[in-house]
Amino acid sequence: RKYVYDFAEGNKDLKDLLGGKGANLAEMTNLGLPVPPGFTITTEACQAYLASGREPAGLGDQIADHLAALEREMGRRLGDPDDPLLVSVRSGAKFSMPGMMETVLNVGLNDRSVAGLAARASDNQRFAWDSYRRLIQMFGKTVCDVPGEEFEHALDEAKQARGTTSDLDLDADDLRGLVDTYKKIFNKHTGREFPQDPREQLDLAIRAVFDSWNAERAVIYRRQERIPADLGTAVNVVAMVFGNLGPDSGTGVAFTRDPASGAQGIYGDYLANAQGEDVVAGIRNTVPLQELERIDKPAYDELLDYMARLERHYTDLCDIEFTIERGKLWMLQTRVGKRTAAAAFVIAGQLVDEGLIDLDEALHRVNGAQLAQLMFPRFQLDHEFQPVATGIGASPGAAVGKVVFTSARAVELAGQGEDVILVRRETNPDDLNGMIAARGILTSRGGKTSHAAVVARGMGKTCVSGADELDIDVPKRRFAVGGRTVAEGDVVSIDGTTGKVYLGEVPATPSEVVQYFEGELDPAATGDALVKAVHRIMTHADAKRRLAVRTNADTAADAARARRFGAEGIGLCRTEHMFLGDRRELVERLILAREATEREDALAALLPLQRADFVEIFRAMDGQPVTVRLIDPPLHEFLPPLEQLAVDVAVAQERGEDVAKEEALLAAVRRMHEENPMLGLRGVRLGLVIPGLFAMQVRAITEAAVECVRQGVPACPEIMVPLVGAVQELETVRAEAERIIAEVVGGNEVEVLIGTMIEVPRAALTAGQIAEAAEFFSFGTNDLTQMGWGFSRDDVEGAFFWRYLELGIFGISPFESIDADGIGRLVRIAAEEGRAARPGLKLGVCGEHGGDPDSVHFFDAVGLDYVSCSPFRVPVARLEAGRAAV
Ligand code: PEP
Ligand code: MG
Repeated sequence: RKYVYDFAEGNKDLKDLLGGKGANLAEMTNLGLPVPPGFTITTEACQAYLASGREPAGLGDQIADHLAALEREMGRRLGDPDDPLLVSVRSGAKFSMPGMMETVLNVGLNDRSVAGLAARASDNQRFAWDSYRRLIQMFGKTVCDVPGEEFEHALDEAKQARGTTSDLDLDADDLRGLVDTYKKIFNKHTGREFPQDPREQLDLAIRAVFDSWNAERAVIYRRQERIPADLGTAVNVVAMVFGNLGPDSGTGVAFTRDPASGAQGIYGDYLANAQGEDVVAGIRNTVPLQELERIDKPAYDELLDYMARLERHYTDLCDIEFTIERGKLWMLQTRVGKRTAAAAFVIAGQLVDEGLIDLDEALHRVNGAQLAQLMFPRFQLDHEFQPVATGIGASPGAAVGKVVFTSARAVELAGQGEDVILVRRETNPDDLNGMIAARGILTSRGGKTSHAAVVARGMGKTCVSGADELDIDVPKRRFAVGGRTVAEGDVVSIDGTTGKVYLGEVPATPSEVVQYFEGELDPAATGDALVKAVHRIMTHADAKRRLAVRTNADTAADAARARRFGAEGIGLCRTEHMFLGDRRELVERLILAREATEREDALAALLPLQRADFVEIFRAMDGQPVTVRLIDPPLHEFLPPLEQLAVDVAVAQERGEDVAKEEALLAAVRRMHEENPMLGLRGVRLGLVIPGLFAMQVRAITEAAVECVRQGVPACPEIMVPLVGAVQELETVRAEAERIIAEVVGGNEVEVLIGTMIEVPRAALTAGQIAEAAEFFSFGTNDLTQMGWGFSRDDVEGAFFWRYLELGIFGISPFESIDADGIGRLVRIAAEEGRAARPGLKLGVCGEHGGDPDSVHFFDAVGLDYVSCSPFRVPVARLEAGRAAV
């Protein structure tokens, strides 16, 4: 098996085998760019090593062959005492895992070759000894687990002895002394001398890179980023070039566009007389890349030329690491660069303008999660605000509030109208009330799948988790960060997108993207590059998508907003939301009615109210289809809670008050009480039990439609029956509804469709029968998930999903993104069997999944006609439906 590839043998599409870094080094080599020669050891070699604990057979020989070729090409031998070849040994997995794995530089230096290197850099003895001490330090730490602080301590002492704080003030003799000290440290911790055999150094460094795949921080990172644990890393062995040979050398990073805004231009940093780690470690201050033009114009011009070539070649923003060794430019790395959500849109638009990609490809360069991010208000950050800590952006948004440390205090202060930020080391299910009350949640522990993160995302609440700079003292109600103390009641601002934490109130601005969707910003007239790009890409998504996008809305205001956001109808109007507030009492009367006449009175009082609701909604939608769902929730939700009522009645009785009415109510509440209301008297079951309830709603819907049509406003109602599990339920409701519709419509030009939710697993499995009585299906994936998994949708997310996510039982909550294998299979079966029974059956989805990017792709693949989601998710669904179609 071939485990080692010369750079000239690979290409950018071999990331699985060569890792991202290796594949791109190969690509640049083949483009003719000046890449230091080298070779890549494959991820397969790493996998074999990790599986068996030994390097696979043949690997050593293949490395020897490639090393020999490298030595021939460079005209130097690894560790040669007179003129040594030195190499770097760098990790490089398929997915970038910044800073998670190991690198060892200057491999090949030993007591003899250090003199050869010094001779080569004859004007720079210091450089050779500095390189050697760096090797012992890095090798000791990463390969042999020598505590890094000991080396750092020794370095500090050497600087103190010199009376300086800068490494650069140490001369060759100081560094030679430091090498001796480092070797003693190495010996003390490993019980052996620092290895002098260059090949042994190389082999041990490669093994250390393999091992670093399973380092704790790498494992945690992978879990968070959902990178599979079995990929392994490739190892790149590259001839060393030196940016620290003097003022005519240096190192830097470059971006072909601004990764923050997407703006065109030259972005990057340069550091003269330094190696890459110095930039990363921030030891000295870098200068903007433009300064390089002044420092070394030929190298600068050459770099700009390569940047342009790379961008054209990759047709995307590239980020680049380079080194200049005595005026000679070397390209050390490139990759398609990470960018902010705003930059993703802006760059995609620019690349279309430049003819590098077409609009279909532009759709692939952005996604719904990025669009959703751009719709949150953002902090207006000028220089006066510096973050005091950075955690993980666990749930996006910008939240400002007073710090509280307990759930109870959060509830208390929020009750007084204060905005609060709940600060906890980590949250647990007891914190749920506090999380609900808070504007945002800030924790010092835990990642993207911690309890806090999962629950906050479920609630759409801003959350920063794992801000480990925070030292939280709950009993004293304060935390310390960066030398400051923040007490209960102090104001902080947290950014759930970037994970940054600020002291004080950072002002927030509404999103310009939302202003555009609201119609407040004209994309043709604005100078805002982001708005222009979003408009262009959304327009293309709309042109391409197969799925229609509707909205879940129960009020005319929501419906109108959703239309502005691009909704093409209402997919779910939950009528139970129309029975709250003042009307609650009417519902109570309806439930408590003992005689038919009492019940009929209550219904008669509700009818005109309902009709007016629907007229408003039909008007807002102006002829677009409106799916109205007949009332769904458990009836007891309209009655007072049992325990409270029982206590009140007992107390009143004790006082000798007249409690006849309360007792009747209590009896009714007792009668209606259910242990599992979600599985009880709700949906169609309710309609079949309470005479006249559904009939009233059907009448109100139809009368409203007729009224609108008479006034010249088109109305297209679709009446939807919830929680159907058997066709007989639907047939019973349908027979009555058809009678009422025929009577109300009379000679008017109004068509009313009757269909059903598919949200009980039995309905999905008998969809062929149910389709006989339904003109449309709408998948209620919330209940379908609840009943399919047996997960109470109101309880489980806060209770134990964090553990399921941690164990990888699922990668994301099945209430958030459709479980394609299980619940999705029910959807697929129902869609196929429903359409087989009734060709032309309309199919949609109205569970929360309708606005989730991955789920939208799934529903597109299943062939549904539309997805329906909350107004704010409508643009996301439009974009993802477009992406699913190209
Ligand atoms: C569903 O179950 O997916 C649905 C849309 O109905 P509700 O959320 O109102 O139960
Ligand atoms: Mg439901």
